[in-house]
Amino acid sequence: MKIIMLGAPGAGKGTQAKKIAEKYQIPHISTGDIFRANIKDGTELGKKAKTYMDQGLLVPDELVCDLVVDRVQKDDCKKGYILDGFPRTIPQAESLDAALSAIGEAVDYAIDVEVPDENIVNRMGGRRACVGCGATYHLVYAPTKKEGICDTCGAELILRDDDKPQTVQKRLNVYHEQTQPLIDFYSKKGILKEVDGTMSMEEVFQAITGILGA
Ligand code: AMP
Repeated sequence: MKIIMLGAPGAGKGTQAKKIAEKYQIPHISTGDIFRANIKDGTELGKKAKTYMDQGLLVPDELVCDLVVDRVQKDDCKKGYILDGFPRTIPQAESLDAALSAIGEAVDYAIDVEVPDENIVNRMGGRRACVGCGATYHLVYAPTKKEGICDTCGAELILRDDDKPQTVQKRLNVYHEQTQPLIDFYSKKGILKEVDGTMSMEEVFQAITGILGA
């Protein structure tokens, strides 16, 4: 099962993607996580990506496409995978399509988690990320057991630069301009499924598993 998660930054697609990956035993591939790991490790890719990410801009397609196309051809992807944060532009979607059709494959589902912009701005201001392992929490919706400390690894939590209000607004603008056209793209292919992302995390998950089946 090959799944793409669509939705604005902060719509909750990352949280849902992790839960889906666990339930269906397929890898969760988050391009944002891949870039953050590269930034942490100080790689060339990380250095290049950071300059865009900190400004709320998309990393150029040429830095993203090959990375994902290589990743989905790894052995652990044979049963499928869930892509979270990719594709984010029409050229990215086309490059994924081309790579898959070259091996006789195609995406099965594009799931769009819909949340209005005003809800997103509120949600992202409360988001906190672990400086150690990258786990994400929310002050109100997904708090840690001990304030400011990661439940998983015990490291400190921060408000990521790209989650700060001025950057969030910019990321939303970028989303509407560059990523939203993908909704039409996948709708035309007949694989778009829309879910209401304003429901509780558990309700959104149930709506998605209802689409994907048991
Ligand atoms: P995310 O964690 O998915 O919200 O991604 C964080 C940031 O990484 C984005 O705001 C972009 O700057 C960059 N990024 C992640 N995935 C992509 C992608 N597919 N194309 C371009 N930039 C990306």
